[in-house]
Amino acid sequence: MRKISLNVLLSSLVSVSVLMTLTIMIISSYTTQKRALIDNTLSNNYVNAVQMSQTLDSLFLSMQSSLKYAAKYIHEDDFTDTSKLNTSLDLIQNSSNFFNSVALADQTGLVRSISPYYESVIGKHVNSKAAKLAIQSKASYISEAYPTPQTNHTIMFIGEPLNDASGNFIGMIGGNIHLQEYNILNLSFGNQLQAENGSYFFIVDQKGTLLFHPNANRIGENVSRNDVVRKLLNNQEGKERYKNISDVDSLAAYYKVPTTSWGVVFVTPTQTVYDQLNHHIWMLLLYTSIPFLILTLVVLRVARKLASPFVLLADMITQMENGEVNQSVVKPHWNREADLLTRTVIGAMRTLKQKTDQLVYQAGTDVLTGLNNRRTFGEIIQQWTQREGPFSIIVLDIDRFKTINDTFGHHAGDEVLKRIAQQIQMSVSSEDFCFRYGGEEFVVLLQNCRSDQAYETAESIRLTVQNSTFTIDHSVTISAGIAEYPVDSSCAADLFQLADAALYQAKEEGRNRTIVKALNNE
Ligand code: GH3
Ligand code: MG
Ligand code: MG
Repeated sequence: MRKISLNVLLSSLVSVSVLMTLTIMIISSYTTQKRALIDNTLSNNYVNAVQMSQTLDSLFLSMQSSLKYAAKYIHEDDFTDTSKLNTSLDLIQNSSNFFNSVALADQTGLVRSISPYYESVIGKHVNSKAAKLAIQSKASYISEAYPTPQTNHTIMFIGEPLNDASGNFIGMIGGNIHLQEYNILNLSFGNQLQAENGSYFFIVDQKGTLLFHPNANRIGENVSRNDVVRKLLNNQEGKERYKNISDVDSLAAYYKVPTTSWGVVFVTPTQTVYDQLNHHIWMLLLYTSIPFLILTLVVLRVARKLASPFVLLADMITQMENGEVNQSVVKPHWNREADLLTRTVIGAMRTLKQKTDQLVYQAGTDVLTGLNNRRTFGEIIQQWTQREGPFSIIVLDIDRFKTINDTFGHHAGDEVLKRIAQQIQMSVSSEDFCFRYGGEEFVVLLQNCRSDQAYETAESIRLTVQNSTFTIDHSVTISAGIAEYPVDSSCAADLFQLADAALYQAKEEGRNRTIVKALNNE
């Protein structure tokens, strides 16, 4: 099975949660922002369209009222006073930027005055269709916008009737507005500055012909096939997302101008909204990626720190297996669980070591006497036979111990065994080893010791035992057999056999004596 490290696990978890959070954040932000931006743009455009339509309307109303006002003060008598008429018309024409020209005609359509002054026109009948219709209507008149045959510019005519004191129609005063020339209408709507977000407006007349448009070449073009313009022509007003005639996805608001039935359309390309949205999302990503990056680094560091006690514990356990534990290097960990685990494992390792040491000790020690047991003897003699240097082995056996047991009881026998074990132990140096080999049989291994020295030691033990008084009212003696390594044998088993044979010989010869194998052989 593939193992996964805490580092990889935590950093993957963080990355996945970060990615998911980011995705959710971006999707929700994208949808809500998109809706909000589109709604805002449409609302702004609608406000703009309404304001422009109101401006246009108030301009036409002002033009009408300026003509109306003039009409009030011009009487039929003035028709013959050409210079007065000219002054009045000049006043109207020059006092505002409403009209490119102002003219006065009588009820027959004969031009009586014009400003700016064109002599050739005076005394002739009006020739424009709009002026003729205005005179026919004998009422306030606002013409449609129509192209002039000469220049192909768009022109419109606003007329006000002149009445005598009895209210009879006596003529018409009117202003011509050339949409592409200098006047207040052109100043206000003719040269639109390109908005930063690509928004623009256009104005159509009641037939859907472009009157004002940022692209001057398109003025005069009929755009009634445009969805929004079609709605305007059906007297509808509103705001919506639509595709314009160039198939550009756009956000448009449209509103009618009451006085002229023109329509104002305020447009923002939808791409603008997407550009803003993309910018917003990039900024979001930028601002969120920095904290997320820091978070990931912190998590990686924390993960490393979190994993460190486990790695340390694993190292320690490996060391323990090799028998080289150094528990002092373990410091307290800031993470509660890791600290708990470390302390528990170290505690367990300590207990385990104590228990193991105890078991090792117990496995190698005789319970009754506290001497090493037969198993340890096997190990030590193996080690000693593998290295250089002589040593001697003494095998000791209590004489007629069975009698002691039988006479004084097993417990008393145990006490004798313990006492003799102590005496043997006390008779040798710290480099030497004493063992309880069997029931009442002991072995001593004497380091760097020839058999003659071993003999002395054995004799010293024998005499100590012989001269001791035990709790029982009975003398206790021991017999001993000795062999020397490597002189007698370099094999551990044979060496023991030789010493045991010497012991047997001592028993045979009457007990309470020491026999050295080598001496015996000679
Ligand atoms: P020998 O001089 O020939 O060695 O005679 P022995 O009686 O000492 O030898 P034998 O082998 O006949 O008897 C040994 C006795 O040691 C038998 C057994 O009851 C006794 N014995 C062995 N182990 C223990 C022990 O742990 N405690 C006691 N009290 N007696 C033990
Ligand atoms: Mg025996
Ligand atoms: Mg015995």
